[in-house]
Amino acid sequence: MNDCLFCKIIAGEIPSKKVYEDELCYAFYDISPLAPTHFLVVPKLHLASAAEITPENAAVVGHIYAVIAKLAHELGFAEGFRVVTNCGEAAGQTVRHLHFHVLAGTTLGSFN
Ligand code: AMP
Ligand code: ZN
Repeated sequence: MNDCLFCKIIAGEIPSKKVYEDELCYAFYDISPLAPTHFLVVPKLHLASAAEITPENAAVVGHIYAVIAKLAHELGFAEGFRVVTNCGEAAGQTVRHLHFHVLAGTTLGSFN
C-alpha cells in the first residue's frame, strides 16, 4: 500500500515516536493525543480496517492485544485503559490502515 500513511510510518518514511515494534506490529504515539497516554498499535500487514479481519489474518489481533497488555504493565497503566478501533468513515476512521488506539492516564468517560 504505497499511499498509506501508517505503512509509511512502519517503513520509517514518515517519522513517528515509537513505543514498541516486533515482526508483526508497530506502536507509536498519536500525533493529537486525547489522553495523557495515547498511542496507536498497527499490524505491519496492511488491512484497511477491522472489516477486513478474517479467520486467516485474525491472529495478529490477539497478538496486538497481548502486546497492549505487556505495554500496559511496563508503562504503568494496567489498572485502567481503553482500546478503541474506529471502523469506517461513519465511525470516525480517518486513516485506512487498521489501528488500535490505546488511551490511559486519566479518568475515561463511560462509553454507554
Ligand atoms: P482514526 O481517526 O481512528 O482513524 O485515528 C487516526 C489517528 O491517527 C488519529 O488519532 C490521528 O491523530 C493519528 N495520526 C494521524 N497522523 C499521524 C501521524 N503522522 N503520527 C501519529 N499519529 C497520527
Ligand atoms: Zn497501510
